[in-house]
Amino acid sequence: MNVPLSSPDIGQRERELVNAVLDSNILSIGPQVEQFERMVADYLGVKEAVAVNSGTSGLHLAVRGLGISAGDEVITSPFSFVSSSNCMLYENARPVFVDIDPLTLNIDPEKIEAKITSRTRAILPVHVFGRPADMGRIMEVARQYRLAVIEDACEAIGARYREKMVGSESDAAVFAFYPNKQITTGEGGVISTNNSDLAGLCRSMRNQGRNSVGGWFNHCRLGYNYRLDELSAALGVAQMEYLDEILAKREAVAMAYNARLERLEGVALPYLEPGIKISWFVYVVRLAPGIDRDRVMAYLQGNGVDCRPYFQPIHLQPFYQEKFGYQSGDFPNTEFVASSTLALPFFNNITEKQLDYVVEVLTEAIRLDAKGS
Ligand SMILES: *Cc1c(COP(=O)(O)O)cnc(C)c1O
Repeated sequence: MNVPLSSPDIGQRERELVNAVLDSNILSIGPQVEQFERMVADYLGVKEAVAVNSGTSGLHLAVRGLGISAGDEVITSPFSFVSSSNCMLYENARPVFVDIDPLTLNIDPEKIEAKITSRTRAILPVHVFGRPADMGRIMEVARQYRLAVIEDACEAIGARYREKMVGSESDAAVFAFYPNKQITTGEGGVISTNNSDLAGLCRSMRNQGRNSVGGWFNHCRLGYNYRLDELSAALGVAQMEYLDEILAKREAVAMAYNARLERLEGVALPYLEPGIKISWFVYVVRLAPGIDRDRVMAYLQGNGVDCRPYFQPIHLQPFYQEKFGYQSGDFPNTEFVASSTLALPFFNNITEKQLDYVVEVLTEAIRLDAKGS
């Protein structure tokens, strides 16, 4: 049996809407993008959603749109996908890392203050694996020091922190729709904000610096081509129509894994806390320190079970080490967690049989590892 790590869930409605775009002849800058933006904004309960062609583009525009520039510092987490930190480098700003809480895997809010300097402009928390960071505490620190907050919510659409939708209270939040995310547009992302000026600026920057006055060849600022096309937006519209159903399915899969793995020794299940609603992006377990994670992964892959070591710490990425001189040991919680994580196959329509098989192979891998060492 082969079980992929992730798999998009594309149905009849998606095909219908994408075909309608093909029939319409409007492939870019059209009604689907507007519709998709409206649906995301309404879902999140924010004023504005600006669709872009990737989560990374969205992060870049949010950073640039908030005026973060050369020499500015932004506090963020080293336990993330690399673009949550690269978005500062695009503007020659500096990511300043704060280690994570080893239970939640999100930035430790109690360690933020110690890293604030006169150059700090913003905090950029990442809602890792769809679990909201401690937004209450982060917003409090941000208000006290007058810092902007940009949420990397690329893994967390629909997650809630104490009844508040992720992406609804910061200056800007960014969501992503790559095929492994909860919903997909193929490639794509959205910036959400209650700041209409920022939204307007992002709309101009995504479209080569054009604005609503002046024609096609009038560029009033430096812009990019970060537009989401109509085909992708139509996919997004279809997926938004049943987002809640998708999130419920994913939660059920996570609970099905929990039930099967509860008694497997050496495997720590995802941490669950009251008041926090996770939007399940991936299903990541942590292996006990005595277990050789990479050997377990190789066994799983050898038996058709795709898996991944989410994430490799950003500060230890080769070019971050080169540029900033980071070393092993700089962020011990991040490094310890990163060496023990294992993301298992996780998608809406994974079958009971596939779940049973993954658990069977994982159990065997751990048994063999214990015997071998
Ligand atoms: C997916 C993701 C992004 C953005 O990814 P794109 O591929 O550019 O859409 C950014 N940050 C995190 C944490 C992500 O998981």
